[in-house]
Amino acid sequence: AHLDRIGAVDETIGAFITVTADAALATAADVDRRRAAGETLHPLAGVPVAHKDLIVTEGVATTAASKMLEGWVPPYSGTVYRHTQEAGMPLLGKTNLDEFAMGATTENSAFGPTANPWDTTKVPGGSSGGAAAALAAYEAPLSVGTDTGGSVRQPAAFTGTVGVKPTYGSVSRYGVIAMASSLDQVGPMGRTVADAAALHEVLAGHDPHDSTSLTDQATGFLAAAQAGAASGSLAGKRLGVIRQLTGEGVEPGVQAAFDEALKIAEAAGAEIVDIDCPSFAYAVEAYYLIMPSEVSSNLARYDGMRFGLRVEPEEGPVTAETVMAATRAAGFGAEVKRRIILGTYALSAGYYDAYYGSAQKVRTLVQRDLAKAFETADVLVSPTAPTTAFDLGAAKEMDPMSLYLGDVATIPANLAGVPGMSVPAGVADGLPVGFQLLAPAREDVRLYEIGAGIE
Ligand code: GLN
Repeated sequence: AHLDRIGAVDETIGAFITVTADAALATAADVDRRRAAGETLHPLAGVPVAHKDLIVTEGVATTAASKMLEGWVPPYSGTVYRHTQEAGMPLLGKTNLDEFAMGATTENSAFGPTANPWDTTKVPGGSSGGAAAALAAYEAPLSVGTDTGGSVRQPAAFTGTVGVKPTYGSVSRYGVIAMASSLDQVGPMGRTVADAAALHEVLAGHDPHDSTSLTDQATGFLAAAQAGAASGSLAGKRLGVIRQLTGEGVEPGVQAAFDEALKIAEAAGAEIVDIDCPSFAYAVEAYYLIMPSEVSSNLARYDGMRFGLRVEPEEGPVTAETVMAATRAAGFGAEVKRRIILGTYALSAGYYDAYYGSAQKVRTLVQRDLAKAFETADVLVSPTAPTTAFDLGAAKEMDPMSLYLGDVATIPANLAGVPGMSVPAGVADGLPVGFQLLAPAREDVRLYEIGAGIE
């Protein structure tokens, strides 16, 4: 049914870069056979899933939406993909994204943009825009995204779906094409909080292949979501509204939908408290120094020799250096190049202390502000993004800085490694609004319990 739906609507939506119909049907048939033979299977066996095309999938082309990797068929699988395969979840395909996950609209893809199923003249958000659109268009019931500065939560907000950025270290990054390793985290996406929780349980787990993987893993996400949905009460829960992320700078329609959701939470027994996080005023600036610094280092591996594209110079000698230069000039898009240049500059001798060093200090302040906030609130809340989905093509007219400012609410969680979730909270002018919840590290269960109460 999902493959039929993809066939019917994906020409318009463009959620998928690759559809793996044969593989999906083969896994489904295998699950049927094993079930008929009386085997005890994983509860999600037979439930299809789509993976963002940043997740490495053995035998299935993996592009990161870049010309740089066009034609690369990985010889191994990322841990999260292996987990969904072991659970018996058929792979529907690989979803579209901003090139190497850099962007907030999915328009920075070398394979064309994705449309928002709510209004196909709008973007689905990004960078996991294909993953979110596939859910909203009912092309997939579950999808896997990645979130370095909001790329799971913001597209979830723009498409009226649920997206979770788990605690840093709870989901393996092995076989996830690296953007900024100290910030990257794979996250589950679904149409309900419980769906995301069920997928989170499949994705998470200690992995010796990822040196930042936590050895003591939290569990109980699905049980928490089910308890939260069943109780109908938020009594005793303290929701901290982050002052810096509400009011000024937030579109009036988005603010109104957020305020309405708060009122409903209050009526369900939640206590609303005011939270001050002064360092958040510098979080975007810190992120846009730390992230490109790590990008410039991580993307050095695309040298025209090891993966995918190789371009020889049009004239002059063919050496390792000239092939590298020609390949990188042809293979990377404008936004990727911008970030590599920014990062290389920020890390260069003489500038390190002024830029990268200062940004790391802000990162510590963000962590301290959050730690202090969690002394008074169980979860911190804000709109996920200051606007609803914008018009396709509009981002091109904007200067990069004003686009980057849209990440203000999602970035702090990545800087601090804490978990975050976006749940739908009504609409503004017919477009979905996201309600963000943040919890302390390893307390992802709070997001599921309270998020399910709010959705
Ligand atoms: N929009 C942010 C950026 O462009 C987030 C990207 C991400 O989380 N992968 O960097």
